[in-house]
Amino acid sequence: MDVTRTPSGNAENFSLRDFMKFQDLGILEQARRFSQYFRHTQAAGLSLYMREAQSETSHRMRIKDPQSGEIRDMVMLGSNNYLGLTDHPHVKQRVRQAVDEYGIGAGGPPLLNGTSRIHRELEQRLAALKGADDAMLFSSGFLANLGWVTAMAGKKDLILFDELNHASLFDGLRMARCSAEGFGHNDIPDLSEKLRKAKAAGCPNIFVVVEGVYSMDGDLGNLPAIRSVCQEFDALLIVDDAHGTGVMGNGGAGTAEYFGLHGDIDLQMGTFSKTFGTTGGFLAAHQELIDFLRFFARSYMFSAHLPPPVVAAVLGGLDVMEREPERIARLHANVRTLVDGLNGLGYRVTTESAIIPVMISPGVDLRRLARRLHDLGIFANPVEYPAVALDEQRLRLSVMATHTDTDLDQTLGAFETVKSEFNLV
Ligand code: PMP
Repeated sequence: MDVTRTPSGNAENFSLRDFMKFQDLGILEQARRFSQYFRHTQAAGLSLYMREAQSETSHRMRIKDPQSGEIRDMVMLGSNNYLGLTDHPHVKQRVRQAVDEYGIGAGGPPLLNGTSRIHRELEQRLAALKGADDAMLFSSGFLANLGWVTAMAGKKDLILFDELNHASLFDGLRMARCSAEGFGHNDIPDLSEKLRKAKAAGCPNIFVVVEGVYSMDGDLGNLPAIRSVCQEFDALLIVDDAHGTGVMGNGGAGTAEYFGLHGDIDLQMGTFSKTFGTTGGFLAAHQELIDFLRFFARSYMFSAHLPPPVVAAVLGGLDVMEREPERIARLHANVRTLVDGLNGLGYRVTTESAIIPVMISPGVDLRRLARRLHDLGIFANPVEYPAVALDEQRLRLSVMATHTDTDLDQTLGAFETVKSEFNLV
C-alpha cells in the first residue's frame, strides 16, 4: 500500500533512507555520508541523541554530556515514565522475586513453552483494566501493532487510519495484505465519507485505527464520535492507547474509559514502554478475537515471550496504580502547573494528556535550543522533521507524577531564560 496517501502527508511515515536523499548511491556510501554528518553534529555538541544515563530512570537523572563527557544532574522531561514507576520500590521488589521464582526467560515463544502463571495473571489483569475478555502480550508495542494488522486484515479489506498514527502502524500497513487509506487527524466528516464509500464498494471488513493520546501533540482521539461512525458503517474500531494507559480515565484505565467507552472498543493496544517504564506491548479484546490472534499474529507466534522480570514489573506497576491513585492526580496537577507556567511566560501550549508540545517557530535553531536547555539541566526532546512536518518543530515534554515543585520551578526558570536568548515568544 502507498503510505504517502495521507491527507497532509505529514504522518510518522518515513525511513532514514528517505531522509538522507542519497538513494542512488550504494548502501555503504549512504552509510558513510550519514555517519559523517551524525558524528559532525555530535562533535559540535548539537546532537543530543543517545544521551547516556548514569543513574536509574527517575524525575531527576545523572546524564553524561555527549560532547564533553561531563555528568550533569538534570530534570528528566524526555521519559514517558508518567507515573514514576521505573524506580518504585514495590516494582523492583516484584522483579527480584520473579527472577528468583522464574529466572530470566523461557527461551521460547508463548504457544510452545514461553508462558507462565504470571504471564497469564498479567493478561487477565490487563483485560480487566481495559474492560475486555482477554489480553495477549507482545515483546513490544511495535510488534503488537504489526501483529494485528497482518493477522486481521485480508486482501479485500480496508484499514482507515488517522494520519497522525505511530510509525509502527505504518510499518504494519506496509506488510499488510489489504488496502489502507488515511483520514485527516480527528476529521470525522472525512472518515465518514471514506467509510461510506468503502461500504458502498462492498468491502468485507473495514478497520478504523486511531490513537487514544497522540504522542507528538498530546491531544486525544475523538473516540465518542469515531465509535459512533464505526457503528453506523459496521467498521471495527482499534485504539492504540500507548500514551493513554496509566494516564487517562479512572485508575488509569485509558482513553476509552476517560470517554465513558470502557469495554466498548473492538481491539485495544497498549505498551509497557511508557507508564510501566519497561518494554513490551499488549492487545486486549473479546475472547474469540484473542484466541484467533494467538495463532495468526506472526509477531506473537514466532517470537519469544516477554521475560518474567518484565512481566513482574508490569504487574508491580498495576499494583501501584491501584494502591496509589494519588499518583495520577499528581501527574495531572504537574501537567497543569507546567502548562500554566509556560503560558504565563508567553509560550502558547495546550495538552489533554501528560505530553506537552512546545512549538518552536521554523526560524529557530531547535538543536541549539535543546542544547542550551541541556546546559540549564533540562532534558527535553527536540522533535524535528521528518518525525513531524517541516514547519512543526517542537520540544516535547513528558510530565511525571514524581516531578517535584523544585523540578517544575527549575524547568520554568530554564524556559524563561531561553525565551529571551532565542527570541521565542
Ligand atoms: N504506538 C504509539 C502511539 C507509540 O507512541 C509507541 C512508542 N513510541 C508505540 C506504539 C510502540 O511501542 P513500543 O515502544 O512498546 O514498541
